[in-house]
Amino acid sequence: MKKFRNVDGRELLRQLESLLNDVQMYARTVDKYVITATTDLEGIITSVSEAFCKISGFSEAELLGNNHNMVRHPDMPDSLHQEMWHKIQAGYPWQGELKNLNKDGGFYWVDVVIEPLQDDLGKVTGYMAVRQDITDKKHVENLTITDELTGAYNRRYYNRILPVEIARAKRDGQYLAFLMVDADHFKKYNDTYGHQAGDSVLVSIVDAMQGCFKRAGDYTFRLGGEEFAVLFRVEDGAHAAIVAERSRKAMYDLDIEHSGNAPHHRVTLSMGLMVLEPDVIYVKEEIYKYADEALYRAKQNGRNCIELCTTEDDIELF
Ligand code: GH3
Ligand code: MG
Ligand code: MG
Repeated sequence: MKKFRNVDGRELLRQLESLLNDVQMYARTVDKYVITATTDLEGIITSVSEAFCKISGFSEAELLGNNHNMVRHPDMPDSLHQEMWHKIQAGYPWQGELKNLNKDGGFYWVDVVIEPLQDDLGKVTGYMAVRQDITDKKHVENLTITDELTGAYNRRYYNRILPVEIARAKRDGQYLAFLMVDADHFKKYNDTYGHQAGDSVLVSIVDAMQGCFKRAGDYTFRLGGEEFAVLFRVEDGAHAAIVAERSRKAMYDLDIEHSGNAPHHRVTLSMGLMVLEPDVIYVKEEIYKYADEALYRAKQNGRNCIELCTTEDDIELF
């Protein structure tokens, strides 16, 4: 900060003007390059920077007076927004990565810090968010967690996200379902129709799964070969079985010819389902093991079916 000492009135004025220029230049730079917005207590946008308009595709006039939800992307789970509001309403800053919606219906990723704004008396009057564009970083990150052929998440991501989702479901007191999926007699499919046709069936399997498990917080993984897994939140075990059954049927209804898969003669899936309860502690490796055993039973029982994992008796607590 400049100091004004031993200067006459004219010099003081000159120095003040120079300072004002500096501040205005600084403000213009921030406006242009820093993605910022302020809202009132209800989340109604009260100001936006030029950088915010540029990345979101909306003009200032389109943003001001509207709820900040207009840039919220449906892929972001409610729980994340609830957590954010909880924190900032309690007067604390919140930091996190958010996928935002732009005017064209596309998206951009930002690293956000939201701070409560206070008046002279310390009363919170609104919120200020400062964001950094991390779309490129997210793009690269996505490549490392996605299976190239099918677009499903890969095994690496499965290993990373499973403990995170278990902890989240436990904290929210929710049931989490883990579904293991394996294509029936797939070796015969390749032998009959060729590896390339087999590859496109793998893509169809993922499409069918993603069509059924499309809520924010649902994950479809390709664990390897023709083996997949789905992680999804459910109300209880019965609900999990209904949704899993829907996905088995979705694949069956695609009616992709598979002459070597008697008696259905179409591509079918066998599944092992395990429902994780919020008040039980699970070992990651055991979840896979028990769901895999249920899947094995589904194969034994004639394939194209789902077997449930009976958790109460089998799972060891620690
Ligand atoms: P089951 O009903 O018992 O699961 O029989 P299966 O033939 O599906 O099981 P198995 O594990 O013996 O064979 C899996 C086959 O999946 C072997 C391989 O030909 C095929 N497979 C694995 N990865 C790929 C892939 O990336 N592309 C294609 N086209 N086929 C694959
Ligand atoms: Mg198989
Ligand atoms: Mg297999």
